Amino acid sequence: MPELPELQALAEGLSAALAGRTVRRATAHPAALRTAEPPLTALEGRALVGARRRAKLVLVDAQGGLTLVLHLMQAGRLGLAPTRPGRPGRRVALELSLDDGHSLRLRELSTTRRASVHLLTEASLADHPPLARLGPEPLGLAANGWRTALATPPARLHSALRDGRRVAGVGRCYGSEIMWAARLAPFAMTDQLDDEAWGRLAEAATTVLEGATERARQRIGANMPDRERRVTAVHGHHGEPCLRCGTALERVSFSDYELVYCAECQTGGRRYADRRRSRFLR
Ligand SMILES: [Zn+2]
Repeated sequence: MPELPELQALAEGLSAALAGRTVRRATAHPAALRTAEPPLTALEGRALVGARRRAKLVLVDAQGGLTLVLHLMQAGRLGLAPTRPGRPGRRVALELSLDDGHSLRLRELSTTRRASVHLLTEASLADHPPLARLGPEPLGLAANGWRTALATPPARLHSALRDGRRVAGVGRCYGSEIMWAARLAPFAMTDQLDDEAWGRLAEAATTVLEGATERARQRIGANMPDRERRVTAVHGHHGEPCLRCGTALERVSFSDYELVYCAECQTGGRRYADRRRSRFLR
């Protein structure tokens, strides 16, 4: 699933390509479009102003104060492509045909429909629940800001990091990367971390996310590729040697995701039980 770095790069690429283009036709799959008023056709004839990212959402702004809020979820892919004649394909959640022969298209790679599209006015945007509930952006967040966001109510660090209401834009992949870079134990309770640990977390988060955003800008532009080619230190590298100490990386498997960590660098040698088998430890 794309996280802050990929979505930031995509929003920047889209913004440059969309600014000044006029929407000719706007269509959405009824399962994806979650708002009725204003209707999507209100975009037709309007010029687009640009695109931006907030948390894991991509916002496309049109003249006259209308904003499309797009949530790609796991399998949504958003990008510009030449407009095709006829009806959009079955997996197309949203299509905006533009005046330059291109379309902004949100497709879903999976058959389950999870991606969502909201068309909001300026007045309703601020109160839009997914946006209104979000925590602060993590890039440049100081140690104190991290403590405020994650320590109360206390939680396991790995789950607090991925909770967008605490801090926005971090998911499974960069959560693991940040904890490894900060040498923090994924199952540490957030109210037990000291000043020094919060400092390491703040520094690691900025380093990891800035580096990943820079790399994402090289490969994404105005199109999210179907296959992600992320460079990661631990995510997806279970069993391989830790880049820092050479110890084989460990993992904890949950029903829907895998957490990878270095027992030498992060947990003082402690190895966590597999969560699929020991459900009661969760
Ligand atoms: Zn290590």
